[in-house]
Amino acid sequence: MEPVSKVTGRMAPLDRADVDTDQIIPKQFLKRIERTGYGPFLFYDWRANGDFVLDKPEHKGASVMVTGENFGCGSSREHAPWAIKDAGFDAIISPTFADIFRANAYKTGILAVTLPDRQVRHLIDLATEDPSIEITVDLEAKEVRGDGFAYSFEIDSFARDMLLNGLDEITLRLQPALTGVLLGPSGAGKSTLINRIVGEDVMRTRMIHSSGEGRHMTSHRQLVLLPGGGMIIDTPGLREAQLWEGEDGLANLFEDIEELALTCRFTNCAHNTEPGCAIKAAIADGTLEVVRFNSYRKLQRELRAIAAKSDARIRIEERKKWKQIAMAGKAKARP
Ligand SMILES: [Zn+2]
Repeated sequence: MEPVSKVTGRMAPLDRADVDTDQIIPKQFLKRIERTGYGPFLFYDWRANGDFVLDKPEHKGASVMVTGENFGCGSSREHAPWAIKDAGFDAIISPTFADIFRANAYKTGILAVTLPDRQVRHLIDLATEDPSIEITVDLEAKEVRGDGFAYSFEIDSFARDMLLNGLDEITLRLQPALTGVLLGPSGAGKSTLINRIVGEDVMRTRMIHSSGEGRHMTSHRQLVLLPGGGMIIDTPGLREAQLWEGEDGLANLFEDIEELALTCRFTNCAHNTEPGCAIKAAIADGTLEVVRFNSYRKLQRELRAIAAKSDARIRIEERKKWKQIAMAGKAKARP
């Protein structure tokens, strides 16, 4: 996905509310799996009726769609933003979007921006009166502006980062020093996925023939460095990942916190509201980052949950064993 920070262009006013995904791209056009080539089918049924606003010569080449509330409602359909993007629109402005549509629009690199009704109405009127007017949707400044007006908008910061950096959700989560692991049986397409994420053919994959021949099986573990600094581990036969080290491992990772805890007034301090808590004091004076303490807590909870689960399993097995012994004893005692 290409980074998007600003879209400047003319507007196409689609003055309708509740435009649903089946109107955006009717279902008979969903058979292809490519992301491109859907543009000609955008609003297919409306266009077929003729005199459709987006087909008016004065709106040709517009890159900002301005439309009514609840845009993109109906069933989840990634093809809807693909078709919009393919038809040349890089931004959509509406008072409200359907959540799934908006998420899919971000993934497609479309700036889906919400503005209050009144401001959207102003833009629709503006575009209708003078189609040659250009506006700018500025993601960096979180602002839609034109001649004589500037409207600020809010956007989810994760989505904003995704768009500004041109990263998809996976890559954005795998920032420097973070490592992802791919789980799944061989031949599931993990290598293909890595190639997609990295953006080049780093994993050798071959076409999977219908016979299953020529299928590339990952036969060794591999750590792939991502262009953004994150890492991905591709390892064969891995079906599940979980923490397995006991709380000793936690002490190695968070030595500073464990040491601080020794100086709490109470030996059984839970570092919540206890007086004389060294950890709370360290957070208050800035020597310990609260994020770090929260990570410690989180890991501790996870380790304890795992320990409790395996304890329960041991108890069940013990019970089963003694039941069997008792049954065997009864059988023997029978005359
Ligand atoms: Zn404490």
